[in-house]
Amino acid sequence: MKNLGGVKLPHHKNTADSKTVDFGLPKLIRIPMAQAMGAVPNLYLKKDDKVFVGQKIGSADSFMSAPIHSPVSGDVIDISDYLNPNGSRCKAVTIRPDGEQTLFEEVRPPEITDKASFILAVRESGLTGLGGAAFPTHVKLSFDEKKTPIDTLVINGAECEPYITSDSRCFIEDTEDVLSGIKLCMKYLGIARCVIGIEDNKKEAIALMREKTAADSDIEIKVLPSLYPQGAEKVIIYKTTGRVVMEGQLPSNAGVLVLNVSTVSFISKYCKTGLPLTSKRLTLDGTALTKNRGNYNVLIGTPVAELLEFAGAENVKTLLYGGPMMGVPIYSPEQPVLKSTNAILAFNTDAALTEPIACIRCGTCSRACPLNLLPMRFETAYKVKDTKLLAKLKLPLCMNCGCCSYVCPANRPLTETNLLAKELLRKK
Ligand code: SF4
Ligand code: SF4
Repeated sequence: MKNLGGVKLPHHKNTADSKTVDFGLPKLIRIPMAQAMGAVPNLYLKKDDKVFVGQKIGSADSFMSAPIHSPVSGDVIDISDYLNPNGSRCKAVTIRPDGEQTLFEEVRPPEITDKASFILAVRESGLTGLGGAAFPTHVKLSFDEKKTPIDTLVINGAECEPYITSDSRCFIEDTEDVLSGIKLCMKYLGIARCVIGIEDNKKEAIALMREKTAADSDIEIKVLPSLYPQGAEKVIIYKTTGRVVMEGQLPSNAGVLVLNVSTVSFISKYCKTGLPLTSKRLTLDGTALTKNRGNYNVLIGTPVAELLEFAGAENVKTLLYGGPMMGVPIYSPEQPVLKSTNAILAFNTDAALTEPIACIRCGTCSRACPLNLLPMRFETAYKVKDTKLLAKLKLPLCMNCGCCSYVCPANRPLTETNLLAKELLRKK
């Protein structure tokens, strides 16, 4: 990782000053079971069951899985098949809220005495990476300190995608929980120091975190230039610690654990209250919205359609979970807010505005690639289905950040081709 590439994007942080507001109870909640990497939880409910806030409604035996909890009290009115954006299917439960928001009787702060009970508590909370990756957090925390000792906790506060400001608001509004979550992780995981990486376009968050950590010699604030994809795990590790995660290795091999700022903030809240992950702070923005753009605390399972109606959406042509670079298209407004949703963006323009022309071999895509890959050669290898060459060119390292497509003067759909080529490699 020498040049680290990356691209300068327009920030569009229109909602940076929008204080988070509770969105409230939707008319219906629809919760798919597949919301994280790993085993899909088995749904415990059947039609007509009564549920309560924080009640576990789905879980799997596999360690690589995060349980699912009800965000509302109410009645189960439907169990159906759900089509995930990646094409797979799972069960989904639809709950009609009763408006009471009665807390489940077993919701109480967890008892934490050591690393094992801390990791168990994080698992039981249903937490998955809140930066959008949907990786079960307890799995990340379960590193083997004998094989891969970790000395540095990196807090990812880059939020480098345009439009999204939910992490930035987390620093500002949940400062004490961010710090408390960091200290809990350092204490129970035995990590000696912490570096908080924040991009330089978040001045208020930087000032606040500097002030609040002034007395903590083991916590450092690292201000990073605003450059996409600063928040990619390997990139932020390098930018905050100078360490390189070698090909085929994990951050723990470099002595680093990376957690998103909203993730550590949630850990603190859960340890205090015992309320599992049932809501999400997200940014609501985009050119198709005519009012109420801002940051909202939204119950998981809330239909996107209710957010769009509230925001006066008109002429929506592109609808995304997450940012314009790595966001996932929402195929129907009836899809719900998920654990990993940090933004709902609605635009009144098509994602692909210009037809691609032939590659002019300018090399710009390769210079922009944070991992020094050769996207134009992926494209030619994919066209002839040359899987050996795709592997030799190290296609699996591609993190689909979108930089190559963004800079290509010929408008080649490079990132999309990389995804298709990866699928071809996987099948092979
Ligand atoms: S999408 Fe992949 S190939 Fe393109 S710039 Fe990002 S990492 Fe490099
Ligand atoms: S940036 Fe586009 S035109 Fe230039 S080499 Fe890459 S694919 Fe070809």
